[in-house]
Amino acid sequence: MLHAADDHEERGEQVPPAKYHGLDTRAAVFRAVGRPLAVEEVTLDAPGPNGVVVRMAAVGICGTDLHQIRGEWQRPTPMVLGHEGAGVVEAVGDEVERVAVGDEVVLSWAPSCGECADCRRGRPAACVFLHRAIASGTLVDGTTGMTQGDETIYRGTATGCLAERVVVDERVALPTGGGVPLQEAALLGCAALTGVGAVLSAAGVTPGSSVVVVGSGGVGQFVIQGARIAGAGMVIAVDPLEQRREQAMRLGATHAVGPDELPELLKRLLPEGADFAFDAVGDPVTSESALRWTRSGGTAVIVGLPAAGLRLDLDPGEFSRREKRLTGTMYGSEDPAVALPALLEHVRAGRLDLSSLVGPVYPLDAIDEAVHASMAGSPGRVLVTP
Ligand SMILES: [Zn+2]
Ligand SMILES: [Zn+2]
Repeated sequence: MLHAADDHEERGEQVPPAKYHGLDTRAAVFRAVGRPLAVEEVTLDAPGPNGVVVRMAAVGICGTDLHQIRGEWQRPTPMVLGHEGAGVVEAVGDEVERVAVGDEVVLSWAPSCGECADCRRGRPAACVFLHRAIASGTLVDGTTGMTQGDETIYRGTATGCLAERVVVDERVALPTGGGVPLQEAALLGCAALTGVGAVLSAAGVTPGSSVVVVGSGGVGQFVIQGARIAGAGMVIAVDPLEQRREQAMRLGATHAVGPDELPELLKRLLPEGADFAFDAVGDPVTSESALRWTRSGGTAVIVGLPAAGLRLDLDPGEFSRREKRLTGTMYGSEDPAVALPALLEHVRAGRLDLSSLVGPVYPLDAIDEAVHASMAGSPGRVLVTP
């Protein structure tokens, strides 16, 4: 048995999976709303023939984790949260072909089942089996592969990587090819794929277009960068926090305002509305506002995930009389295995900035502080380094 504890010299040690009879690791476990996340020892099932052990180097706190922590979604507990991570492959199963020990990888939380209609159309993040698994706190095959004594430990977003080590299917561990610091690479795993994909794949923003981005948190900043990469002519960032507005300006926004100032600015610059508007928050108020500020014939895109049970209140005339389109996107509307190499190209060419979006970094033992920093709206992604 490999004890993962604090033995840093164990990092990178190449242990064949045959040696694993369950692997103990330390993980941040969410047990109940209002109770701080605690670092506990959990046992991981040994990797199967297509499984890999990843030593996590950095994990971002995503809005999805916060929904869970605030009790806005009902998922089984105890659960290891975290689905936006990067690390190093430490061991591989006998039949693994896509990655090797020592590879630096980004985790995808949407492996393709390859069989359902959504996976066949190249949208594994919309896979019905994946969404069932996420709602049940399991992997796509219905297992969790994590226990504590006799108790099942569930996985957040079919991943559960707020841990020193995680065992995943090889299709989940996407190699970076090296050269991208792992703290930065972690952001690619959810926020960047989601935000940049919303612009390039879901909306298809065209050069010269005008874009409004409501919300400049982790995902919003990548929507802004995606709009710049797409060649948008005007990119208006909307966020109540000054620091986030400043960051948006550095990353490609041409204007940045608070929500109250937006109507005045649009009256002056885009009286007919924007070609594209993105709701990077996922609240009915921000979704309705994105649709309102879209021009006739334009496209509004819901990117952020809402709390359970919320509903939109919309004027149907927006769609008939004004021919607006309202759509949504999940994980960038592209297969992560296809989208990640493209993002890495943007990073290497200097078009996609990751480093300035790395926010405060916390060790695993300070997980609760990390969660609070993320809830407080830290500019830049809050990272945990397990
Ligand atoms: Zn996420
Ligand atoms: Zn599927």
